[in-house]
Amino acid sequence: MTFFAFAAALALTAPTDAAPLSVAPAAAPRPVAAAEVKLWRVDCGSLHFANFAPFSDRGEYDGQPHDLIASCYLIKHGDEWMLWDTGLSGSLVGKPSESEGTVSRLDETIATQIARLGVTPAQVKFVGISHNHFDHIGQAADFPASTLLIGKADFDKLAAGKADGQREAIAPWLGEGAKIVKLSGDHDVFGDGSVTILSMPGHTAGHAALLVRVTGGAPVLLSGDQFHAQQSFDRNLVPVFNADRAQTLASSDRFRAVAAQEKAVIVIQHEPADLAKIPAIPKAK
Ligand SMILES: [Zn+2]
Repeated sequence: MTFFAFAAALALTAPTDAAPLSVAPAAAPRPVAAAEVKLWRVDCGSLHFANFAPFSDRGEYDGQPHDLIASCYLIKHGDEWMLWDTGLSGSLVGKPSESEGTVSRLDETIATQIARLGVTPAQVKFVGISHNHFDHIGQAADFPASTLLIGKADFDKLAAGKADGQREAIAPWLGEGAKIVKLSGDHDVFGDGSVTILSMPGHTAGHAALLVRVTGGAPVLLSGDQFHAQQSFDRNLVPVFNADRAQTLASSDRFRAVAAQEKAVIVIQHEPADLAKIPAIPKAK
């Protein structure tokens, strides 16, 4: 058996799910032929809050307005494509909405943006979802041919119509034989350790972050909504609406431990100050 055949066999037989540990490091990369891994940020909208108070249960944001961006990420692994998070609903393009002091905007859909790299939704093999909130699953149904990777607890709640996001967003994955992996722990997406979904429950029961080992650069740790803003990271804040406070704090510890171990670039997906850390999809001309 050649080295590469052996390594491929190893990757095929390795378990893809592991029980989550509160402060577990990410799995080491396996010795397989390295596929080139590239990462782009996709603009998935913005959110303006008249009062950001609910984003800390200790009152740090009381009475403060705050702007968040919504970010998705396109990953190229060899000749395969993956999307991480699907942002706000495509129905917002050209029609910003306001509800209870929150203004949601979206300039372009994901499909429109990735087309500028020559990528169609049908080419996106995997759609990974950090959690089941409306600003992360809004355009998932635009990728009905993709395999959905999502925390089991978050999927089940969406399917039952009991999540913050709309059940329609996951309509392509509700039937028998749907292409979906419901995660109950970490998940090595391509089987080579290059892109790993890291279970970090607490914000929601099935919440996860994503570690991307980009070729030729530092690894990137994408936050999901483990933290919503730099100040939330700096002061270890917990939103009032999180599913479980103790789990959130354990996951925050794990997030910091993984970032330190990997010497990773931390990207807080909702933080405008982190925009420059990841190349953007080229703008429309
Ligand atoms: Zn969010």
